[in-house]
Amino acid sequence: MAKELTPQEMLRIDLTPPNKDWMDIPTVIKPGIYCYPAKPEKVEIVGMPNPHVWSPLDDDWGLPEDWKETFLEGMRERLNKHRSFKIFMDICVRCGACADKCHFFLGSGDPKNMPVARAELIRSVYRGEFTKAGKILGRLAGGRKITEDVLKEIWYYMFQCTECRRCSLFCPYGIDTAEVTIIGRELINLFGLNINWIQEPVANCYETGNHLGLLPHTFKQNIEFMCMDIEDFVGVTIEPPFNKKGAEILFVTPSGDVFADPGIYTLMGYLLLFEHIGLDYTWSTYASEGGNFGFFTSLDMAQRLNAKIYAEAKRLGVKWILGGECGHMWRVVHQYMNTFNGPPEFLEEPVNPLTGTKFENAKSAKMIHISEFTADLIKHGKLKLNPKRNDHLKVTYHDSCNPSRGMGMFEEPRYIINNVCNNFYEMPENTIREQTFCCGSGAGLNAGENMELRLRGGLPRANAVKYVHERFGVNMLSCVCAIDRAVLPASMEYWVPDVNVCGVSELVGNALIMEGEHDRPTDLRGEEIPGFAKAEGEEEVTEDV
Ligand code: SF4
Ligand code: SF4
Repeated sequence: MAKELTPQEMLRIDLTPPNKDWMDIPTVIKPGIYCYPAKPEKVEIVGMPNPHVWSPLDDDWGLPEDWKETFLEGMRERLNKHRSFKIFMDICVRCGACADKCHFFLGSGDPKNMPVARAELIRSVYRGEFTKAGKILGRLAGGRKITEDVLKEIWYYMFQCTECRRCSLFCPYGIDTAEVTIIGRELINLFGLNINWIQEPVANCYETGNHLGLLPHTFKQNIEFMCMDIEDFVGVTIEPPFNKKGAEILFVTPSGDVFADPGIYTLMGYLLLFEHIGLDYTWSTYASEGGNFGFFTSLDMAQRLNAKIYAEAKRLGVKWILGGECGHMWRVVHQYMNTFNGPPEFLEEPVNPLTGTKFENAKSAKMIHISEFTADLIKHGKLKLNPKRNDHLKVTYHDSCNPSRGMGMFEEPRYIINNVCNNFYEMPENTIREQTFCCGSGAGLNAGENMELRLRGGLPRANAVKYVHERFGVNMLSCVCAIDRAVLPASMEYWVPDVNVCGVSELVGNALIMEGEHDRPTDLRGEEIPGFAKAEGEEEVTEDV
């Protein structure tokens, strides 16, 4: 298994160009690269087609008899419905500008992981089945027919794309291969061929409101457990409001923050921040998920799962919505939510109740990002902060793909970090902001069985972290995405073992000076902060703010 490869072995990436046309190179489906198939009961729960047991390693994938007609009809429908998809099928000139921009190609050397080739897998079917030239000239015009092998190849490579959109940045025509992947996955889902790591969270979210399937009381209890930790580490008692009707703000965050290390420390940061400013807000045990794995399944499914956020905002009668640190949630909010489920006339344009700032950028969707909110509070001097409490950390910042490329949020997290930490170092310019490298496991690919793919895809990001680690001693990689927080620890452990991962709000929580707090010799992880821990025989800890 690839998991057993050493980093040195993993780095032996063969970039020799193949001596055959790509259509003549058969696709071999390898363990370590693919994710396990969707369980039929999870497909059934949301009423998706053809729930069945199958394996990517079998010859027979259990396709329905009329699968070819269904595929072509599905493609025709989407070519008519999505102008972008039709354009992306027509205008690629195969210039190759995107070829070396994908983290999966850089980490694997597999030519079919070049963005141009990934899209070409579907584009060739478009040419062969839908264009006159392709129908007549076939391969001479770059066309091919849909066959079982072609479908399997599409499946394999659609689940080796994290929909990060880095490639689109370099395409002179603006072709967005992530959108091709989105449509490719929709087509695959016509036959029950999703992966379980996506399908199960979708089914859970549909049934309980969150990807993990946490029931309301468990969701509430987990957050209350974190309040107990806060009581221990900070000395402040917090009683978070749940399902509070008439609260001013509804707070929604990915459920990854509610149960998993290191996301839980980010959540402790949110709790401390809201307590610090006395915010009138509420959690919801129904809209208990900001993430949306429906987005990795089909746009219809994304719309269905997203609906709960507005429905809950309406039920609770809040004025506007505040969102936590998530990645793809922000792409959905920023680019789709309004047309999916809005515009929500029952909500108001978000206004920070402490500073009076109107978030005009959210005039329509009525939802703002916690980093926008926190940066605004800092800018207006509303937070008491002691950045020295983060002095044991040398921090860098990973621009999570969706908040950066998907909504253009570059400055706010950096502004926050620079106010709550004294040691911040940027990674090289061509790996941050718009050009940021994916964590390697987004878009539902953060399973365990595809670890080789994840580590290969995570290599370019890890390489940039390694640079600042070796040059400046960076030991903390901060980010604003729950998937990042879930997957980067494995990537760091493999490629740059001395670097930890945190959310930006965790750094805020460490630095906040809370009213009534006791001595705080530890950070929110319960780890001693040098200079703040009591020396033996010493009575009190002195904090020089
Ligand atoms: S950069 Fe754009 S036009 Fe050039 S090969 Fe890639 S997708 Fe095609
Ligand atoms: S969207 Fe990201 S993962 Fe997909 S082909 Fe482009 S660079 Fe690669």
